[in-house]
Amino acid sequence: MKNFDIPSYYRSSITGRVKELRKQTDPRKQDFTPATMDFGPVQFHIARHFGFCYGVENAIEISYKALEENPDKNVYLLSQMIHNQEVNNDLVSRGIKFIMDTDGTQFIPWEQLKPEDIVIVPAFGTTLEIEEKLKTIGIEVQRYNTTCPFVEKVWKRSAKLGEDSHTIIIHGKHNHEETRATFSHSSKNAPSVIVKNMAETEFLCDVIKGKKTHEDFFQYFKGKYSDGFDPSKDLKRVGVVNQTTMLATETQAIADFVKQTMQAVYGEAELKNHFADTRDTLCYATNDNQDATYALLEENADIAIVVGGYNSSNTSHIVELCERKYPTYFINSPNEIIGEKLINHYDYPNHKHITTDSWLPKKSPTKIVLTSGASCPDTLVDQVLLKILTYFEGAKSVESVMAEFENQ
Ligand code: SF4
Repeated sequence: MKNFDIPSYYRSSITGRVKELRKQTDPRKQDFTPATMDFGPVQFHIARHFGFCYGVENAIEISYKALEENPDKNVYLLSQMIHNQEVNNDLVSRGIKFIMDTDGTQFIPWEQLKPEDIVIVPAFGTTLEIEEKLKTIGIEVQRYNTTCPFVEKVWKRSAKLGEDSHTIIIHGKHNHEETRATFSHSSKNAPSVIVKNMAETEFLCDVIKGKKTHEDFFQYFKGKYSDGFDPSKDLKRVGVVNQTTMLATETQAIADFVKQTMQAVYGEAELKNHFADTRDTLCYATNDNQDATYALLEENADIAIVVGGYNSSNTSHIVELCERKYPTYFINSPNEIIGEKLINHYDYPNHKHITTDSWLPKKSPTKIVLTSGASCPDTLVDQVLLKILTYFEGAKSVESVMAEFENQ
């Protein structure tokens, strides 16, 4: 895979180095078992795959290049480049301005933009409507377009399904930038509707089976279906694509449920005329991160720490998996750790920021699962590890533990 030129302060000499050494001994990622960093009174189980993915490194490289090449111009990002506060803040401190928030709320009106301004398209891609708006202003959209190739792959898949007269069911979060972009692209080729989870899929399938009315559909999926959508003819032949960062098992369950519904309505012999049996459109990083997380669940750890942006979709799914087994702390920076007694963290199921007392178990050795999302710099994971180490008297030095790894 391509090596990107990203600022050195995002490169890590501890967890990133461990990951690098694993890559050297297992380049084809056959082994997803975590690496154990044994400091004596505390052990960290480091996921086999975590941190910056291809699309994020590509976006970071292009964004810093845009700043370097245009010192005298206004440099804008359409919205957060990736869902990581640290990276976005660093770009802002270097002069980048955001045109809108992640949910589409405008910070800078379009009228303020000039043809000579630079606009960076984030890794999630953007909608055809926004692309058109920028072109009308005279801005060269493709110059600093960081849309991830794995997102573009989803757009191509929906275009193909649309050419074959399928309606596109998008499994994704309807207010996430990537899903908004995918919806815009797929709506150009075919009727499209977004489902967030199994409950929404069940509702949609009830419409297909005639158990719910078309009025129910319009009300329930308000803002999530394409213009001119006609449930009486647009739910007869369907295909499923998904946001690249969804939970693999959930997408599979959704596709299977839609397939079973089509089979129940049209019969086995007619199924292929009503359901496109394609693979999910998750990206390699999502798959690898989730596989590595399943391997973390095989450990007998005491707690899990997941580092990443609170609005990061792929990170939230890693949290969801870890919570199946461990008390899990989802933090966006080491500053969330107030001390060995208190920790601030994001309660993902309830979508709120909370503080937990006595979070660090008092036992020896304490075993901690440590991982991060695809938009989190490894240096942040290092800082979390280093901070936790200060709470363990008699812990071995990082240098000696790293030397053990280097000599393996
Ligand atoms: S998570 Fe996947 S789709 Fe998203 S930027 Fe990374 S590689 Fe691309």
